[in-house]
Amino acid sequence: MRAVDVLVHLATARFDRALTYSVPDGPALRVGDIVRVPLGSREVFAYVVTAERVLAGAPLKLRAIAARTDAPRAFDDDGLALARWVAQTYLCSLREALATIVLADAVPRVVERFVPLGEPPAPERFSSVPERLVRLLWGDAQGGISPAALLRHPEARRSGDRRTLIAAIGALVRGGVLERRRTFVRPPVSERTIRVLEPGAAPIRGRSAAALAAYVREHAPVRRTDAVLAGFSDAVIRRAIAAGAVLEMQRSLEHARARRLTLPDFVPTAEQRAAIDAIAAATDAGEYAQLLVHGATGSGKTLVYLHAIARVLARGARAIVLVPEIALTPQTAERFERAFGERVAVLHSALSERERYDAWRAAARSELDVVVGARSAVFAPLPDVQMIVVDEEHETSYRQDSTPRYHAVDVARERMRRAGGVVVLGSATPALEDYARAKAGRFPLVRLRERATAQPLPATHIVDMTREFEAGSNRIFSTALVEAIGERLVRGEKSVLFINRRGAARFVLCRSCGYVPNCDRCSTSLVMHRDEGRLRCHYCDAQRAIPAVCPSCGLGPIAPYGVGTQRVAAEVEVLFPAARIVRMDADTTTRIGDHARLLDRFGREADVLIGTQMVAKGLDFPDVTLVGAIAADLDLHVADYRAAERTFDLVVQVCGRSGRARAGEAFIQTYSATHPAIVFAAQHDYEGFAHQELAERRALQWPPFVRLVFAGVVGRDRASVEATIERYAAVLRGDARWEVLGPVTYPLARLNDEWRYRIAVKTRELDALRDALRTLVLPEAARSKDTRLVVTFEA
Ligand code: ADP
Ligand code: ZN
Repeated sequence: MRAVDVLVHLATARFDRALTYSVPDGPALRVGDIVRVPLGSREVFAYVVTAERVLAGAPLKLRAIAARTDAPRAFDDDGLALARWVAQTYLCSLREALATIVLADAVPRVVERFVPLGEPPAPERFSSVPERLVRLLWGDAQGGISPAALLRHPEARRSGDRRTLIAAIGALVRGGVLERRRTFVRPPVSERTIRVLEPGAAPIRGRSAAALAAYVREHAPVRRTDAVLAGFSDAVIRRAIAAGAVLEMQRSLEHARARRLTLPDFVPTAEQRAAIDAIAAATDAGEYAQLLVHGATGSGKTLVYLHAIARVLARGARAIVLVPEIALTPQTAERFERAFGERVAVLHSALSERERYDAWRAAARSELDVVVGARSAVFAPLPDVQMIVVDEEHETSYRQDSTPRYHAVDVARERMRRAGGVVVLGSATPALEDYARAKAGRFPLVRLRERATAQPLPATHIVDMTREFEAGSNRIFSTALVEAIGERLVRGEKSVLFINRRGAARFVLCRSCGYVPNCDRCSTSLVMHRDEGRLRCHYCDAQRAIPAVCPSCGLGPIAPYGVGTQRVAAEVEVLFPAARIVRMDADTTTRIGDHARLLDRFGREADVLIGTQMVAKGLDFPDVTLVGAIAADLDLHVADYRAAERTFDLVVQVCGRSGRARAGEAFIQTYSATHPAIVFAAQHDYEGFAHQELAERRALQWPPFVRLVFAGVVGRDRASVEATIERYAAVLRGDARWEVLGPVTYPLARLNDEWRYRIAVKTRELDALRDALRTLVLPEAARSKDTRLVVTFEA
């Protein structure tokens, strides 16, 4: 008898055990095939997770697979192996790991509908069924209606409460006049197509439509998603199509099979050449390796990546490029598209579900050579990947903070370890863990000290704001920064003003008693939204009107503390009425494409870009010769062993936006002018900072000298959360192989009406700790009804 193991695909299923079914006649099933199997009285979809085997001996009482589906294979053996590794490493179920690896759209779904049969039944046949419901089903809902839509329908609700409705529907179904019809919706299996825009003949009306038409004429054919990324709104595109000013076509990518490669025609600098050669040597060796490219901001790391990947493609293999956030780095994504043409897929947020799925399938069918994307692109089903490039490898966005809590850089390493490929880590400010390991000789470290454009790094000034305060200046800007902005305006150069908005930057407080309004559900201060006249929680979005007087003392006005981009913009307008300003923050970038549009405007016609974290990284504008960091040090005061590293990183990156093509300057305004993170950053001295910071970490025993794991407990009832975390702490304590710190609350003790406590565990034996968590803590957590366990492998 032929048999395979399957994993049932049910969002709600808690158990993770593979079930064995017999295989009906037909071609062999493969790992990743999607089948339908009986489960209890139901029939559900399931993934095949083993190769077929033949069971000898007495026939077992196995249930048989009900049907194969023609859905494309959800994963291959490598994908499954990687999913198992993720489950093992991050202590989640295989099902949860697969949910991350397999696109939701790739799995068939069952759709249920109630379909009325024949004429409406005579009222006396179903005396318990409200007439209104019959009229609805045989009227508006004649074509069938899903159970959820039916229960929600206003007409249905008017005819009775939920219980009555369910009973009535049941009666109709049993009476044979209403059918509960189940259909299977499978993922599309068509060729990969993209929507492209071509110039149309019709005249153009409207400024934005004209701009779009000009853009399309210049670049035709233009992918629709590229037009969106270039800043044209969907509405404008639709209007232009409707008017015939541009034409939309579906184009199959079949013709794009040929490999195309256009490297930028820069001659690599000597440093770039050395880096390219080092990576090439690793590539040609054909076994697992990782390299760290530590390159100053503007040193031309992208060119190195492009050459490195070209080498991999020349060997007939493929590559994945991870970037922190596509929306924030449109310039980087563009460079890859230019180089690899249609053999590259950039998985950005402007893609529709369908386009994302098409790209995923094109990858699985080897129609692509390169996939560029954020964190989850590390799982792209591209066969024969021999290189994974991780740009800005230190970024926290590579860590997923929901289950599975994976770190994409570690997954990249594991994937390349299995494939015998190369991981290229690049950063101006590498994670100290990676830097320390490379320094210790565990893998090669390649340096790019010079900027590729032969411009020196900007001259940097630390502005001690406590002095400014003493001098009686109460403004947002120091005198020096104001003068510097003025000079840029005179010379026609551009400035970037960065406002750190993490942490406590925008809370309001009572000027009389110091009272701070907090969110009732989350232990965090509410944030001022002046344009709406409201206070909002940035975690759960609870909202409240801004009180006129303090609700605590009844005296003082409630006013914002710290500054936002709006305040800064207003101040610049007062100081320099002629300056053309672009403001970029969460409020001005609510739609896809807003980033690109604002950046484009800044590049073309503005003088000053004012923004939050969004402007800190990755921007490459040659005319920017001034960067001002308004409150560079806010992160320094966060209780986190990485606070100094984060601040250093941020300051280096922000300053790096300045002086890329002409001599530039940067001003760092801070209340911690002598802090090493600030001082070293101002000197662009990563090594100096790393040396000092690593010495401190060694003394205090923080990563990379130990591994750090957080085990947290979350739940609504504070007492039971506290009791539970205490129990877990007690289970782990008393083992000499690790040290348990806490329990304490998370930095945010309450989130969404839930209490959050955690312990920190430091160890040198991570595998042993993982085993202990798996065998001692996980089983108990699985039984707990009112709390959840959250394990984070921090470093
Ligand atoms: P990084 O990512 O290291 O900060 P980029 O890759 O953005 O740096 O490169 C910075 C700038 O230098 C870009 O505008 C790029 O086009 C340019 N550039 C890169 N390599 C060279 C080169 N060899 N010659 C001239 N310009 C270069
Ligand atoms: Zn809240």
